[in-house]
Amino acid sequence: MIRILEDNVINRIAAGEVVERPAAVVKELVENSLDAGATEVQVSLRAGGTELIQVVDNGTGMRRQDAALCVERHATSKIRSFEDLELAGTLGFRGEALPSISSVSRFSLSTRRREDEVGTLVEMDGGRLLGVRDDGGPPGTRITVRTLFFNVPARRKFLRTVSTELAHCLEAVRRQVLMRPELDIEVRHDGRTLLRSPRTEDPRARLVDILGNDAAELIPVDFVEDELRCLGFIAPVGVHRNSALGASYHHVNGRFVRDPLLRRAIAEAYRGLVPKGRHPMVVLDVRIPRDA
Ligand code: ADP
Ligand code: MG
Repeated sequence: MIRILEDNVINRIAAGEVVERPAAVVKELVENSLDAGATEVQVSLRAGGTELIQVVDNGTGMRRQDAALCVERHATSKIRSFEDLELAGTLGFRGEALPSISSVSRFSLSTRRREDEVGTLVEMDGGRLLGVRDDGGPPGTRITVRTLFFNVPARRKFLRTVSTELAHCLEAVRRQVLMRPELDIEVRHDGRTLLRSPRTEDPRARLVDILGNDAAELIPVDFVEDELRCLGFIAPVGVHRNSALGASYHHVNGRFVRDPLLRRAIAEAYRGLVPKGRHPMVVLDVRIPRDA
C-alpha cells in the first residue's frame, strides 16, 4: 500500500540532511538572525550544543501568524516565486531549517516585533506543536533547541565529544561573523563566554577578535576586475597556520563558501611563500553580480 508521509515524518527525514550536528543548528539559527537584520546575536550552548542551543537576536521578530507558520515545511518569507528561487537557491532559503530542527529536538521560539505589545511563544516537542501563547521579552527572536536528536537515537549516538561538537559550533559562528563587523556577537558555553566581538567600524578588529592576534598583520586588499570585486585580508609572508581550518575563509557575496577552485587559486598564489603543510591566513569576499 502506498501512503503519503505525514509532515512530521518528512521533516525528520529532511532533518537528516539539514542538521547533521549541533553546529548545523547554530549555523541555520544565526543565519536567520542575520537575515532578520539583527545587530546583536547571543549564542548560548550547553554540552557542545547537544543539551542546549539558544540563539537570541534583536532582529525584526515575527508576528504571531508567522511565528506559528515558520515551523511548517517550506514556510519562508524569503522567496515567493520560481524566479526568486533561482536567486535564493544558492543562498539556501528553502524554508526547511526550522521545521527540520524542531522535529528532532525540544524547541521553543519566542518572538516579538518592535511594534507589537505582546510577543509570541511557540513550543514544540519532536515536531509536535505543544502550544502558541503570549510572551513578553524584548523585541527580536529567541530560539531554544534542547536535547537535539532526543527522538532519533541513532543520530544522538553518533554525536562526538562535547569538545568536538563545541569546536564545530564555534567554527560555524566564526564563518558567519568574520565579514560582519557591524554585528555584536557573543557565544557562551556552559555559562562561560568563549567568543565575544562587539560591533566595530574596523573590519580588522573583527578579524583579530575572531581569529586571534596574528590577524592584525594581514594586508587589506580590494581588487576590481570587470564585474568582479575581491576584497578582504591576506597574509603577508610569514603569517600562516598549521591547518586550513581557522586560517582561510572564503565568501561569495558576503556568504561563507567552501569552494575548491578558490582554495586552489589561493594555494597557487602562495606557492613557494608558505612552508609545506602550512596555510596562509586569507579572508576574502568575492563579489559577483547576482545574475553572473
Ligand atoms: P528560510 O530561512 O529558508 O526562510 P527557515 O526555516 O530558516 O527558512 O525560517 C523560516 C522563516 O522564519 C524565515 O523565512 C523567516 O521569515 C522566519 N524566521 C526564522 N528565524 C527568524 C528570526 N530569527 N527572526 C525573524 N524571522 C525569522
Ligand atoms: Mg533559514
